[in-house]
Amino acid sequence: MIITKSPAELEFMREAGRVTAAALVAVAAAVRPGVTTGELDELAERVIREAGAVPAFKGYHGFPGTLCTSIDEQVVHGIPGERVLREGEILSVDCGAIVEGYYGDSAMTFPVGKVSGQARRLLAVTRASLEAGIARCVPGMRLHDISAAIQAVAESAGFSVVREYVGHGIGRSMHEDPQVPNYGQAGTGPTLKPGMVLAIEPMINAGAADVRPLDDGWTVVTADGALSAHFEHTVAVTEAGPLILTLE
Ligand code: MG
Ligand code: MG
Repeated sequence: MIITKSPAELEFMREAGRVTAAALVAVAAAVRPGVTTGELDELAERVIREAGAVPAFKGYHGFPGTLCTSIDEQVVHGIPGERVLREGEILSVDCGAIVEGYYGDSAMTFPVGKVSGQARRLLAVTRASLEAGIARCVPGMRLHDISAAIQAVAESAGFSVVREYVGHGIGRSMHEDPQVPNYGQAGTGPTLKPGMVLAIEPMINAGAADVRPLDDGWTVVTADGALSAHFEHTVAVTEAGPLILTLE
């Protein structure tokens, strides 16, 4: 069942989104060769707690971090720690915060110093695919209009869409109905209504779509070792159009 949110609930979700965005902005400014993913994690946790909010991922099914930090061929759910970032890598940072019981969820992928042309293009295309999906968050559109828009942008650029992990409804839980795949048939799926809130999160691979989990129980990598990027926003469907909640 898709739970629609009242205007008052959307206000709380906007605040959760604002805090999530503030943490990501702080991390963005700190990403550089030589910094560890653990240091970025501490920074994000500080920003979230100083805002009076709670890190959403910490303790979620036992996850140890405030951030998921996923480098290069790592797709999602990388664990922050002692790993030192190196020039030329790309770093996906996924972050969530809770305000008054409501969740915000957002991710960005950053270049570490100077990166390859392929990496730059992957980041630009993945971000563009998210924007194309967000543009479909309009009452009367169908859920898989979002999915198809993301897929079209990614695949027309020669990249592939991860199937095993998808976006999701979000509210008083981090993961609610519906699932929001990053591939699918336009004109199908539930009709979008005002008050629906979706975490839209394309995970796009430079090589093939296949992924596999690592032995740490969390980190997901591309099967062929090619780069992967991830961008995410929490977006409300409103009469006025898409409202991105995870902005500062
Ligand atoms: Mg996320
Ligand atoms: Mg998410």
